[in-house]
Amino acid sequence: MKETIVASYYYLLYHTLRHSLAASDFEAHMECMRQQQKAVQGEKVLQILEQLQQGREDQASLPSIRKALDILGIMPENDADSLRRLSSVFCYIELEQRYERQAVYDFAELSERAIFPKEEQAELSADPQAYVQKFVSSLNRLWKREDLSFEAFFAKLKNTVEHYAWCIASGSKSSHQYVPVSEQCSMLGALAAALSSERMEDSGRMTLVVGDLSGIQRYIFDIAQTGAGSVAKRLRARSFFLSALSDIISHRIVHRFGLPLSNIVMSSGGKFYILLPGGTATLQELERLQKELDHWFLEQYHGEIACNLAGEVIVADDLTHMDKIMERLNLTLRQRKMNPLLQGLTTGECWDTNNWLVQQQETGRRCSVCKKFAVDEGELCKHCRFDEEMGQRLVRARYFVYRYPSQRGLPVVDGYSVEAVESPPAYEDSIYLVYRLNSPAVDTDDRLPMVTKYAANYIPVADENGCPHCLAKDDAHDPVRPGAPLQFECIAESAIGAKQLAYLKADVDYLGSVFVFGLNRDGQAVQLQQIAVLSKMLDLFFSGWVHRIISEKYRRVYTVFSGGDDLLLIGAWDEIVHLAQELHLRFREFVGDNPNLTLSAGITFCKSHQPVARQAAVAEEELDRAKESPSRTRPEGRNQVSVLQQAMNWEQFAEFCEEAKRLAVMWEQKQVTSAFLYRLLDYAEMYRTYEAGDTQGLRFYPKLSYDIARNLSDEKDKEVRIWAQRFLTIQEDHPFLTLRPLIQMSRLYRLNDVIGKEEM
Ligand SMILES: [Zn+2]
Ligand SMILES: [Zn+2]
Ligand SMILES: [Zn+2]
Repeated sequence: MKETIVASYYYLLYHTLRHSLAASDFEAHMECMRQQQKAVQGEKVLQILEQLQQGREDQASLPSIRKALDILGIMPENDADSLRRLSSVFCYIELEQRYERQAVYDFAELSERAIFPKEEQAELSADPQAYVQKFVSSLNRLWKREDLSFEAFFAKLKNTVEHYAWCIASGSKSSHQYVPVSEQCSMLGALAAALSSERMEDSGRMTLVVGDLSGIQRYIFDIAQTGAGSVAKRLRARSFFLSALSDIISHRIVHRFGLPLSNIVMSSGGKFYILLPGGTATLQELERLQKELDHWFLEQYHGEIACNLAGEVIVADDLTHMDKIMERLNLTLRQRKMNPLLQGLTTGECWDTNNWLVQQQETGRRCSVCKKFAVDEGELCKHCRFDEEMGQRLVRARYFVYRYPSQRGLPVVDGYSVEAVESPPAYEDSIYLVYRLNSPAVDTDDRLPMVTKYAANYIPVADENGCPHCLAKDDAHDPVRPGAPLQFECIAESAIGAKQLAYLKADVDYLGSVFVFGLNRDGQAVQLQQIAVLSKMLDLFFSGWVHRIISEKYRRVYTVFSGGDDLLLIGAWDEIVHLAQELHLRFREFVGDNPNLTLSAGITFCKSHQPVARQAAVAEEELDRAKESPSRTRPEGRNQVSVLQQAMNWEQFAEFCEEAKRLAVMWEQKQVTSAFLYRLLDYAEMYRTYEAGDTQGLRFYPKLSYDIARNLSDEKDKEVRIWAQRFLTIQEDHPFLTLRPLIQMSRLYRLNDVIGKEEM
């Protein structure tokens, strides 16, 4: 089994290396493979590979690998001679707008910086030969290790291949879209593991499972009802816990089926997909798992969170037209979500009344933070106590450690646990996975099943001198200590101008359609690998790149969550406004400027003591406005940002911010008076009545004209006069429509002493 999985995983790579390395280098590579006798029998892996190559049939495992190759239509021979650069998967996406450009990735090790594609004509900056040499020397080092378990070896192998081969293209028979070699390898490994499993049925049926956590946002924000306090310590912890929970549930499912973690074919944003062997019996096993999960969630979380599983039985051919399968699978998932936790409440066909009593059974005091769960010691319930501990640890965490069975770390489901630590743990049998955060885990000397993980985890902390805001306050009885998370109040105080926070909520437009229909260009078959690549690349942007940019440039921004295809950030309002614009611009670059892939965002400003749950809901409303408000170029909305209850496109938003800043300067220097701005708002009201059909409203024009002539005629008023004359028009998209939010926005800038000097 081990050799079969490794051989099928390695098959395509073996070809690629054979044809792109010098003969002596390839010989040396095979020699390194042969030396491996601990994790797998390298000699046996090589035998399987050679026999596959020669079309021989004398190994028992060959049929399942050959079948896997056949199913995926992988044909390494056709592009064997050259290393091909990978086109961005986003280039293939077409919804309503035609898109013809090609954007390709350079040969570069995977990082949050490497994921921005270049024009096809751009010069290769990396030498392909040198790149492959480096890749193969990492592989050789790994094959020669004599101290690794299979689990650790396979995790490191997969991680090394993803690190280097994510940008090397591989073709297939059923599609002329290219997929990374690393993704083809993963899918081959997953498929061969399923096909050679003892749970595999003669019918050849398999099951694709989707799992999805629901109640995430409500659970994250519930802690924040009490206002400020130590919310900043807990919010990140809760968000982290939920992503770890989603991971662990997916681990538990593959473990239950005796498969390697690589059968989890996609996982991001609290949602995962798993490829399992078997049909009906597998669905029954899933029902049992669902029931166990439902019981656990009811007991531990009173049903505040649920994990919904749905499975779709597929045959091999289905893997090449996954668009339809994904549509069906997500429909089943939606139906399941309408009756969450049903399995936990019923035994067979009867209602299980024991589970109705959970809330009443817990007597005694309620937790002082969440006011929901019973106190088990001190003032806090166990969830809130973990949040507080974890919140402290996450600030410095560089590794997440998953154990089973375990007594250490944060216990999650049934003997699984997760721990956040600063340095890699010592080897233990119970450690089945280690994430190294935001830093490549390649060529490391440890014996751990350690892989690279991009995760947005930045929160602002006080530097070695402590928080300047707390220190300046006389009555601060609990100042933020050096290295501890800043309170939201401290973050707000660091803003320029008004001491306010901003919430930024953003996500990718029409994402469901992008996944289901986007790749189906000109009736093309859509493969599971392509969908997986799309999901992984988006996640790299929202987790890897967002983490990098915040921790380098926007250090007063707090990550509530960012990953999958969406984010929620809280920060000093001025930084959030800049960050939103950079997010949009870099996303354009990331998707090769494909107009079918756009972002929408909602921004809301508030004082720091406002409850987080309430403000997050307001940001969500702004996001909905950005999505729904029609614009002249796009009647169906989207590709917009909404701020101060006004939706605008991203270019307008950049101008809007600039204008608000200029107005603030004129206002502060008394070139423009508050009285004049109030009169402007009156004229804007008249314009609105005109727009609604009342021609009387046109009076705004002579009135404004007279006002300008009378009050702004001096040479010193020139700048204001030019600005005000902008409103003397009856064009569509009238500047009056954004006047009120413009004035509100400029008030945010206004209290700033250094206005005009600061770089926008
Ligand atoms: Zn070949
Ligand atoms: Zn609590
Ligand atoms: Zn402070």
